[in-house]
Amino acid sequence: MSQANKDQLALAQARYAEYLKRNKMFLTRERTSLLDFIFGQKGHFSADELLYEMQRTGLKASRATLYRTLYQLVEANVLSESDFGHGHTHYEINLGDRPHAHLVSLDNRDDVREVTSEKLDAAIAELMRKEGFTPRRYNLQVFGSFAGKKKS
Ligand SMILES: [Zn+2]
Repeated sequence: MSQANKDQLALAQARYAEYLKRNKMFLTRERTSLLDFIFGQKGHFSADELLYEMQRTGLKASRATLYRTLYQLVEANVLSESDFGHGHTHYEINLGDRPHAHLVSLDNRDDVREVTSEKLDAAIAELMRKEGFTPRRYNLQVFGSFAGKKKS
């Protein structure tokens, strides 16, 4: 694990510990190992994909525990959740340092690309300021077709 990744994991652990403390819970060994495991995932993942991966690697936690942990990690600002219209939630590690929008292909459900735009971030920040609204998180999904990729 690189130093940058270690720093990110330390930040995630700190946020999760703080969230748990606020809610009168403890960072147990089970929660720590689930966080480590989730942190090892790349890109976007669903709860079912995590369950499959947990079984494959021999990490023992119930489905209910996993769902609860995912919910807590979203609340703790460690994960963000997005709906790509696939009938389940996609999660990704998001410590708030990299806002991005998702372009979700309606032709190929595996084709979800991330785009960033400083203009868009600035426009949203300005809008929130104007509305007197303090955002905690947001996510933006745009659904459509990539040029030349449309299946007939
Ligand atoms: Zn993403």
